[in-house]
Amino acid sequence: MNNDPGVVCFRHCSTKSVFCRRVPATCPVCSSRMQNFVVDPFCVPYPFANAAHNPTSVVIRPSRGSFLDDYDVTSDDLHIGIVDSAGVILEFDREGLIANDAVRWTDCVALEVVPAAWTARWDETLSFMSKDPKWKSVNYNAINMNCFNFVLEFFNNLGYADLKFASKEDLCERLILLKMHTACRYVSLYRNLKDQEYLLADHHA
Ligand SMILES: [Zn+2]
Repeated sequence: MNNDPGVVCFRHCSTKSVFCRRVPATCPVCSSRMQNFVVDPFCVPYPFANAAHNPTSVVIRPSRGSFLDDYDVTSDDLHIGIVDSAGVILEFDREGLIANDAVRWTDCVALEVVPAAWTARWDETLSFMSKDPKWKSVNYNAINMNCFNFVLEFFNNLGYADLKFASKEDLCERLILLKMHTACRYVSLYRNLKDQEYLLADHHA
């Protein structure tokens, strides 16, 4: 139940990978009829997920709009929340703690970062924090006390392995950046394929 637009990748003849929405009858590189692929067509994994279907995870989406169609990495803020083991999404914003605004979380980056044995502790930590008056709307501040502060404190309370962070920057760098890189690459492919039928990329073994 997400908006996977379906991006396909294959390699027919050369060292170039071809990205497209549907596999053409003739190869855009060598113009011959397509048979005997070097790499058979496969769907590029859609990097976004429905938060409600990803229990016990950290979820990230743009503050406004969607990753696919709206997000601009240079100017847009990210919004971050935590999903409990029942699929309830908790996020902190100017209205305080919000539970289960699920329609806005259908295509987000979801990170599962703890083993199943930590599920109870994950829920306890979330439940404990949701009763803390610290996370009332009056305490919200767009820069100093926002959704990232909530997640930062969540992990520091949780105390799992090395998932403790000195700052929001530290959290972004170690937890989010790598996955965001993959997601942004997909977004760029998708947007390019709106204007052109194929995209050729050099193949890196
Ligand atoms: Zn070819």
